[in-house]
Amino acid sequence: MPQIHKKIKSISFGVFSPKHTVDLAAAKIVTPELYDREGYPVDGGLMDIRLGVIDPGLRCKTCGGKLKECPGHFGYIELARPVVHINYIRQVLDLLKSTCKFCSRLMLPDITLKKYSALLAKVAEEEGIDARRQKLREITSKYKIKDKCPHCEKKQEKIKIEKPYNFYENEVRLSAIEIRARLEKISNEDLDLFGMDVSTGFRPEWLILTVISIPPVTMRPSITLESGERSEDDLTHKLGDVVRINQRLFENINAGAPEVIIEDLWDLLQYHITTFFNNEVPQLPPARHRGGQPLKTLAERIKSKEL
Ligand SMILES: [Zn+2]
Ligand SMILES: [Zn+2]
Repeated sequence: MPQIHKKIKSISFGVFSPKHTVDLAAAKIVTPELYDREGYPVDGGLMDIRLGVIDPGLRCKTCGGKLKECPGHFGYIELARPVVHINYIRQVLDLLKSTCKFCSRLMLPDITLKKYSALLAKVAEEEGIDARRQKLREITSKYKIKDKCPHCEKKQEKIKIEKPYNFYENEVRLSAIEIRARLEKISNEDLDLFGMDVSTGFRPEWLILTVISIPPVTMRPSITLESGERSEDDLTHKLGDVVRINQRLFENINAGAPEVIIEDLWDLLQYHITTFFNNEVPQLPPARHRGGQPLKTLAERIKSKEL
């Protein structure tokens, strides 16, 4: 296989659509089990050899390459229930607050929108997209004080967030399913006004995850200790929790378990996926090794990379 050398100038982070996440993946991960009795990676487990190989003597089932030949391949997990993406809480809150609960339109009369569109464009140009969103929120909140949608005239309720990721409308918690359904209904025209780049096909409901991408095995290799025992990478540890709770949630939903049990597991899934992305969220206890030290997950890993 030829060696490719590239100099990376910058990396930008975005959100993939659920479809793209699945299309990109070489395998769907469905079991928390890693190895069978012979120590061979289990099919559908996090070390599945379709995601790449780290053992000499094994061949990747996706590209046929051996250790050091195979670059590794992404996998995915289908979530039993959607969860909020911790990196986009602010954007989700802004959208929920600025749009009508009933007709999903931006909470501004069309005539006002026209009036402010030049100002918004100017703010975007001079101070960036975040400032534009902030400005739009200020403008819409003035109208929301009236409690009524200018389009359908229905009364609105107060939306707030309890950090890190619980949304409330009045005193009622909004589930990720409900939030996702609301985001789905916002039109591309309104999103454009909101300063979101819809030209790439981006949709805000992607900020509520229904699938998550699994990094290749080669990105999280296990090491073999002197005792012959394997020691797994922190990401694999964390993903193991995600898969375990997700499968338990699937089973309980299918078995018709009481809603309290399902909600507890759903909350736990939200916690594990959040700490997979970022294990230093201020309001959350970090996920730890048995020995007590916090796991290093995605955000901590990216921070420690020097470009
Ligand atoms: Zn491969
Ligand atoms: Zn409305």
